[in-house]
Amino acid sequence: MNRKGGYVSNADDTVERACDHCEWHVIAESYPELIKRYQDHLRDEHPMAWMRS
Ligand SMILES: [Zn+2]
Repeated sequence: MNRKGGYVSNADDTVERACDHCEWHVIAESYPELIKRYQDHLRDEHPMAWMRS
């Protein structure tokens, strides 16, 4: 991946995602980890949303 291409927005190559349902957000080092942590959060905090996803 070309790190200067603007594909990731910060120097640490981290990815970030905000929760659709509350103020929570997660920062992870890879997209798969980001998804896993977001799914864990949904399951714990928003089980109804998690079941629909
Ligand atoms: Zn949330």
